Amino acid sequence: MGEHKRNPTAINRAAAVPGAPGLTIDLDAMEKLLAGTTRFCEHCGLELAIFPPDDFFEHLYGTHAGLIEPAFVEAWRAYQNETDLAERLEMHRSQLFGYAWQLLTVRYDLRKKCVDSGVVTLPAGSGPH
Ligand SMILES: [Zn+2]
Repeated sequence: MGEHKRNPTAINRAAAVPGAPGLTIDLDAMEKLLAGTTRFCEHCGLELAIFPPDDFFEHLYGTHAGLIEPAFVEAWRAYQNETDLAERLEMHRSQLFGYAWQLLTVRYDLRKKCVDSGVVTLPAGSGPH
């Protein structure tokens, strides 16, 4: 009674961000919160969903592969070719956390929106949000 029911998938995906102590991101809630928000490809101006970044990655690592650090393109292709579902999900989760953290770093408006709605928890003492 009174217990907040959550999507089990969301529980599995909401977690501390590797390499960013104290930061937690609920990836499913972030996807819902940012639905309809877009970004533009810095290379050709194509408008794409900002989160999740799957379409953006597909575009960037496909259309603009020659402009991108080869290690990132290889990591994306390794993810695309991974046949072990559990491993593939973990790779995707890692990509989402990395991208989300970058996004929150460069887009203060989205960071504030995510923090204010409880989708993102920042480390204590990390300054104004
Ligand atoms: Zn482009």
